[in-house]
Amino acid sequence: MGKKRQQQVFVVDDSATVRHSIQQQLEGGGYATVPFCDGLEMISSLRWMDAPPDLVIMDVDMPRLDGFSTCRKLRNYEEQGLLKWSGKTPLPVVLISSHDTLENRRRGFRLGCLDFIAKPFTPAEILRVVDSFLRPETTFAGMSALVVDDSQVVRHLVSRCLAQVGLQAYEAEDGQAAYEMLCDQDLEVDLVIVDYRMPRMKGDEFVYLVRRCPETAQLPVLFLSSEGDSDHIITMFRAGASDYLVKPFIREELLARVKVHLQSRLYLARLEEMNRNLYDLAVRDSLTGLYNRRYLMDFLTRIFARIVRSGMDLGCVFFDLDHFKRINDSLGHDFGDHVLAEIGSLVRRQVRGGDLAVRYGGEEFVLVLPRTGLEACVGVAERLRATIEAHPFVSRGTSCRVTISAGVATVLNDNPASANELIQLADRLLYVAKSRGRNQVAPMLVAEEKL
Ligand code: GH3
Ligand code: MG
Ligand code: MG
Repeated sequence: MGKKRQQQVFVVDDSATVRHSIQQQLEGGGYATVPFCDGLEMISSLRWMDAPPDLVIMDVDMPRLDGFSTCRKLRNYEEQGLLKWSGKTPLPVVLISSHDTLENRRRGFRLGCLDFIAKPFTPAEILRVVDSFLRPETTFAGMSALVVDDSQVVRHLVSRCLAQVGLQAYEAEDGQAAYEMLCDQDLEVDLVIVDYRMPRMKGDEFVYLVRRCPETAQLPVLFLSSEGDSDHIITMFRAGASDYLVKPFIREELLARVKVHLQSRLYLARLEEMNRNLYDLAVRDSLTGLYNRRYLMDFLTRIFARIVRSGMDLGCVFFDLDHFKRINDSLGHDFGDHVLAEIGSLVRRQVRGGDLAVRYGGEEFVLVLPRTGLEACVGVAERLRATIEAHPFVSRGTSCRVTISAGVATVLNDNPASANELIQLADRLLYVAKSRGRNQVAPMLVAEEKL
C-alpha cells in the first residue's frame, strides 16, 4: 500500500513569530513545512533541490530580497530552466503582507502569485487558503447542490465539476422531479443548478415555485442557458434566478460562479450564528445561564392572552434564597456568585422542555410552567426546594448549605388580570413563605393572611 506523500509548504518570513505561527497551523492541518528567513535563502536552496515544494507562502516585506523580487527571480529561473524540475507548471506562491493595497495585489498577481493574504491574518485563514489550492476538494466539503437538467450528459458533467470543490451533487431530470425532491422530500442543498428547457416543468416555473417555498426561498439558483437565448435569461431572472451560465460552459467559469454564491451562503450562515449568539447574550443571564427578566416579561406578555382564552392553566413559581446576605457576608461575594451559578444548573436540571427558568433579580428566580395546575406546580417547587436543601455548595475548600422559599400562583387558581399580576401574586406568596419561617413553599393565602 503506497502511503500518500505529505504535501510540503515553504514558509518564508523574516519574523520568527510569524513563521512559527504559520508552520504550526499548517502542520496541524497535515502539511510538512520548511522555514526560510528570507527570499534569498529560499531561492538559493531551490537551486539544488530535486523536487519543488507544493506551495510557497512568502512575506512581501523582507530585508535583502523582498517577496516581489524573490518571485521575479524565481520566474526567471523557471524560464531559463535553471531549476532541476523546470518545465513543470510554475511554482505556486501565496504572498502575505501588511501593505494590502490594490497596487501590491496587482504586482503579485502579475508575477503569477495565486493569492494575497493581508497581515494581520488569523491562523485559520492560512490553512484555508493553502487547502483551497492543495486540497480543493475540501473547499465546500459538507455542502451540496442539486443539478436539474433533462440531459444526463450535462448533469454528469456539472456534477463532476462540483465534486472537485467538495460539493456533493444530487441530480434531477426535470423541474417537477427537482421540486418534489426539495419541497416534498425536504432534500437540503446549498445551491441549485437548473436548465431552462425541460419536459414536464420548465426552469422558470421551477424557480418560481422554489422562491415560494419558505425553506428554499433564499437558495442560490444558477441556471444554464443556451447561446442566443437572451429572452430566457430575462424570464429566468424574473422568476427569481440568482445567476446564469451559457452552455457550453467552461469548468472554471462554472466553479467561479458557484464559489461566489456558496461563499455568500457561508457568510450568511456565520452572520445568522452571530445573531443567535447576540440574541442569547441579550436574553440570558451570564452568571446562571438562565433567561433574564426582560425575556420573561416579553414571553409571558406574549402568551398570556392566548393562555387565558384557551382555558389552559399556567403556573408561576417565584423563589428566593434564604438569608443569602449572610452567605455573602461570611463566605464572600465570590462564593455567593458560585452558589447562584450552581442554583442555575440545579434549576435547569429540574425543569422540562417547555418550561421557562429565569433569574428575576439578584437572588430571586422565577419558573413559568405552561399547562401545569396548582398542585403540580407546588410539586415542582417542593422538589426544587428539597433538591437545593440537600445539595452541598462547595467551592475552593469552602462549603455551605442553602435553602429557598417559594410562592406559587397559577392562572386558573388565581385569575390574574395580566402576566405582571401573576408574577406579583407569586412574589407575594413568596413573602408569606418567608414569614412562615422560610425553607418552604406557599401555594395560596390562608384566610388571615388575605386580610
Ligand atoms: P431573605 O431570606 O429574607 O431573602 O434574606 P436575604 O439575606 O436573602 O435577603 P436580602 O434581600 O436582604 O439580601 C439579598 C442578598 O443577595 C443581598 C445581595 O448582596 C445579594 N446578591 C444579590 N445579587 C447578587 C449577586 O449577583 N451575587 C452575589 N454574590 N450576591 C448577590
Ligand atoms: Mg517582514
Ligand atoms: Mg433572599
